[in-house]
Amino acid sequence: AAKTAGRRTHYFFNDELRAQTERQNTIHNRMRDGLKRHEFSLVYQPIVDFSSGKVTKCEALLRWKDEDGNVISPAEFIPVAERTGLIHELGQFVLEQACIDWVTVHKSGYPIEVSINRSERELNDMEVAKQWLSCIKQHGIPTESITFEITESLLMSNKQRQLQILHYLRSQGVQLAIDDFGTGYSSINYLQRYPVDYIKIDRSFLNQAPDDRVQVALLDALLRVARALDIDVIAEGVETKRQWELLQQQQCDFAQGYFISEPLTLDKLLDFLRKWQF
Ligand code: C2E
Ligand code: MG
Ligand code: MG
Ligand code: MG
Repeated sequence: AAKTAGRRTHYFFNDELRAQTERQNTIHNRMRDGLKRHEFSLVYQPIVDFSSGKVTKCEALLRWKDEDGNVISPAEFIPVAERTGLIHELGQFVLEQACIDWVTVHKSGYPIEVSINRSERELNDMEVAKQWLSCIKQHGIPTESITFEITESLLMSNKQRQLQILHYLRSQGVQLAIDDFGTGYSSINYLQRYPVDYIKIDRSFLNQAPDDRVQVALLDALLRVARALDIDVIAEGVETKRQWELLQQQQCDFAQGYFISEPLTLDKLLDFLRKWQF
């Protein structure tokens, strides 16, 4: 009986695996065709600088509306694109579109920096990194106006090639942020080894604040360490007035979240800036 059960499990895994691979292939092909059909677009979420009260940055976030009009979340399609390699094409689209939009925003009179997410897999190739820099420069954008957001796992994995590319990008003026800080096994120790400009603390870090005293204490500790290392802190997922006030009181540097604004299309971002900045 054990033997049959074992074999059955074996078949079950194969079927599961095959089904999963097929699902992935389907999504991959739909994404590849969708890119050609211009189904992808960017939205921008404003980031407020506590010291001036102004929006000084925004994060570019990828959106996909397929040919049937279904909106698919990046949390669903980015991991597939990372596995199949389509992340390179998607990432290229994101950078180019963000550069084009940056020019529009600046021409409208708003000197705003833009943050762009980069997957670990996109940081494999120095030639690609050089292409990003020339793309940024071709649009007449100072490299300092661009921040690349990477996840903490990359820093902790100690992958020499990727780290070398990150160092190179930073030496060329691009800013670096650690995204979702606090969700992995982040060690504050890594912050001194790999110089970054920002850490973005994940919303799970303050979802119970200010009521949860442990969260408040951790936030306070993290802000102190960051300050000592000359790293600015961006709080992600700020949803309530009470969180906003706590962060302000704790002298956090930047805030991003639904309390300020959800991610906006370019037109809506310009409307928002018009109302917020003046
Ligand atoms: P992320 O980079 O951490 O982006 C923040 C996510 O939190 C966004 O989800 C944003 O819409 C959401 N968010 C913002 N404020 C709030 C809030 O107050 N409350 C809550 N509950 N959520 C908030 P989104 O747009 O669905 O993106 C999910 C993830 O997909 C991103 O997380 C990022 O890791 C990835 N992603 C998005 N665009 C790109 C891209 O162009 N390239 C790559 N490589 N990854 C991307
Ligand atoms: Mg991000
Ligand atoms: Mg994040
Ligand atoms: Mg600072």
